[in-house]
Amino acid sequence: MALLPIRTYPDPVLAQKCRPIDQVDQDIRRLAEEMAETMYDAPGVGLAAPQVGRPIRLIVVDTAEGEQRGNPMMLVNPEILEAEGELVFNEGCLSVPDYTADVHRAARVKVQARDLDGKPVHIEAEGLLSVCLQHEIDHLDGRLFIDRISQLKRSMYRKRRLKQLRREGS
Ligand SMILES: [Zn+2]
Repeated sequence: MALLPIRTYPDPVLAQKCRPIDQVDQDIRRLAEEMAETMYDAPGVGLAAPQVGRPIRLIVVDTAEGEQRGNPMMLVNPEILEAEGELVFNEGCLSVPDYTADVHRAARVKVQARDLDGKPVHIEAEGLLSVCLQHEIDHLDGRLFIDRISQLKRSMYRKRRLKQLRREGS
């Protein structure tokens, strides 16, 4: 197992619509394990495949705390079936360094996906898990949380980020 390098804004892979996974094979299982390891190491509460450079519909999520942590959800082709209510949550992202912002999301979602055995999974989520699932599924559609804030805030972040990257010489 290896930690995977995390792609950061404005890497174009983060803006790509990811393709569905037809079959969960050894490569996908290994990728999911490595993504989980990378998420715990970061640490973060979720990670989507495009964040490690793979534009496919796979996410890992673990919103538990303390000793409960370590049992990641690994979801293939996750889809939001129902969304209701509204909440505002201060979000960050491993691919959007040094920035957080308040984002409006649905308060509750029903998500359908497959697990790594190809079996259907249904999740009803609220609170942090609901936010996290919406955030990760957004990644699969090439959308970052900064695409859900005001244009002014986004362009201020973009300028700051590009300046930072120039300083780092990348
Ligand atoms: Zn993210």
